[in-house]
Amino acid sequence: MGQKCRETEMLTAPAMTFREWTGLLTADLVREPAKFGLGQVPSRLLPDATTKAVCGFCSTGCGLNIHLKDGAAINLTPDPDYPVNLGTACPKGWEALSVLDAPDRARMPLLHGKEVDWDTALRYFCDQMKRILDQHGPEAAAFLSTGQIMFEEMAFLGVLAKFGMGMIHGDGNTRQCMATAVTAYKESFGFDAPPFTYADFEESDVLVFIGANPCIAHPIMWQRVLKNKRQPEIIVVDPRTTETAMAATQHYAIKPKSDLTLLYGLAHLLVREGGVDQSFVVAHTNGFDAFAAFVAAFTPERVCAETGLSIEQLLRFVQTIQNGTPRVSFWWTMGVNQGNQATRTAQAIINLALMTGNIGKPGTGANSITGQCNAMGSRLFSNTTNLLGGHDFRNAAHREKIAKATGIPVERIPERPSLAYDQIIAAADAGTVKAIWFVATNPSHSWIDQNEMNRILDKLDFLVVQDMYCTTETAKRAHLVLPAAGWGEKEGCFINSERRIGYSPKVRRAPGQALADFHIFRLIAHYWGCEELFRDWQTPEAVFRVLQRCTENQPCDITGIDGYAQVRKLGGIQWPLRKDERLKIKTERRLFEDGKFYTPDKRAKFVFDAPCEAPDQARDEFPLILITGRGTSAQWHTETRTAKSDVLAKMIPEKLMLDLNAEDAQRLKVRDGMSVRVISPRAELTAKARLTACVKPGEVYLPMHDHRVNQLTHASFDPHSRQPSYKHSAVRVEAV
Ligand code: SF4
Repeated sequence: MGQKCRETEMLTAPAMTFREWTGLLTADLVREPAKFGLGQVPSRLLPDATTKAVCGFCSTGCGLNIHLKDGAAINLTPDPDYPVNLGTACPKGWEALSVLDAPDRARMPLLHGKEVDWDTALRYFCDQMKRILDQHGPEAAAFLSTGQIMFEEMAFLGVLAKFGMGMIHGDGNTRQCMATAVTAYKESFGFDAPPFTYADFEESDVLVFIGANPCIAHPIMWQRVLKNKRQPEIIVVDPRTTETAMAATQHYAIKPKSDLTLLYGLAHLLVREGGVDQSFVVAHTNGFDAFAAFVAAFTPERVCAETGLSIEQLLRFVQTIQNGTPRVSFWWTMGVNQGNQATRTAQAIINLALMTGNIGKPGTGANSITGQCNAMGSRLFSNTTNLLGGHDFRNAAHREKIAKATGIPVERIPERPSLAYDQIIAAADAGTVKAIWFVATNPSHSWIDQNEMNRILDKLDFLVVQDMYCTTETAKRAHLVLPAAGWGEKEGCFINSERRIGYSPKVRRAPGQALADFHIFRLIAHYWGCEELFRDWQTPEAVFRVLQRCTENQPCDITGIDGYAQVRKLGGIQWPLRKDERLKIKTERRLFEDGKFYTPDKRAKFVFDAPCEAPDQARDEFPLILITGRGTSAQWHTETRTAKSDVLAKMIPEKLMLDLNAEDAQRLKVRDGMSVRVISPRAELTAKARLTACVKPGEVYLPMHDHRVNQLTHASFDPHSRQPSYKHSAVRVEAV
């Protein structure tokens, strides 16, 4: 505590403690947004009306008041009544409107870089896709979707591509962030079901953040932590001394990717020291005895040797979370999800919550924090690896149910799920996938081992990008660019990390001839000749109704929602809400309060496997481990949007900064601020060295937002979730 935060320096605000600064992010920004160039309205414009929207950047799902003049948005402020953010917003949310005005918005379809009208573009799209599918079969074309568009649109894309156009394969960029949590929850709980509500941040006695840096990545969730009045212990497990680690009461700076061993070591000590909630385990779980026998090998001595922690640290950690502490909540995000054994690591967190009985009660849970604004919508409705509503393509009864709910003949529903993202790309390299349609995603920047990805993309017969901006690294490679409207220029729903469905309206016109993704899909259905399948899909709300039917009797059942008006009136609604629950909606609800899970016998399952080494180990030629992550709360992913804001630009360093420990710097003869080359077996880039104790000797850190960083990353994947492992790549650093 008390260390100066990196972002504080960037804001050129007076030195302040970390807690003061994070407090400033919300309270002061709300009171004095103009101090940071946020929320200013030209004096000639005064709003004459206000409407409400959910933010379209991250999975926190903050409520915003959009102020209108003559029916169009001129400004926004955080919504004080929305149960998620309670009147606060991070810099990205404040700037959500300004990034829509960027000069590089895609305004017209571009065919081989030349503007064409929609008729030409859509005829070309359909001709090329039909040619490829006819000549090479249904596996020759694929789509890659996103967590950034409304879920009514995601569903339209998934249904159009698979049931209408006849594709088999389609995945989403959520494979890069959330596939691990999905896989882990499904196996452990019987359904992909994050159990928590944000109130749990305020109601815990101990919060354990593993591979999560909410101060930067989810700053409004962090504000909820700061509202906790129970004087909580805040434990951070992270190789780096992140901003959240600085604010924590305990920080365990383990060796990169030793998290699974640590979690098993904690389980070992809980068993040994009587920290197991036996009554919960016996009543509500399966597989504990085998798990207890398995973790017997994870002695404190072994765990300390493999993680770099001391015995005292390990004992303090376990004493803080062991049975007798009333409420412990476990939170994880990309540091876990993006690992080579990510699913088992997520399940090791779930195991800790189960064995200590920390689930289904206030302030508890094994809680995966999501990334994109609609990653959760994608998990239920993108129709990629799951059939709509969390169903299974392989299950005949599920296909019948979805055919009935959508009105689409069952013969059109594929009987197998899609290949995963990396497998689609591998198939493109092998030449079996010849066309890919990317929607609202920029893999030329974001995919692991980026140069390899771009080599493969350049082999495609047909590469289509549908996006708001025509200047993304992927759009520049595309044969055809379809210009799309963005958040605020169309309506529909997102689902946030706590399962809350929120609505976002259209408050502006899209530039030029850009169209809502929803309308692009309707047009493609028409040009393809399958619009009859979508006769009920006239509006986003009509699709919402179709999707409600798809969820009937599923854990995510939302048949009790009365439609958009009710979602807006209630400040979002968490799933599930079944027909019979309509009258007892609470603002914040958590799952598993009755101890019943979604497995056939209603018991949660202990799942575990032996840890293994990350593939790209440090070695003589590449002696340092590169960790990547979010840079600042003003940056979002590939910066397709956030780079367009002058205000946000002031909050980030001008140059790419490499965090390097002073001990390594001395050995390498690198001084603070010097230019350095960062070299991996795949590529090299130049950055400025920032000497800091935030990384340990042997480790370096780069923010993922710079377009070159993923040229360095090593392409390995969790075998269960197929999620890329971005957090462990061997590099060397040289002074320039
Ligand atoms: Fe938007 Fe996320 Fe920031 Fe909230 S925390 S304002 S949802 S970007």
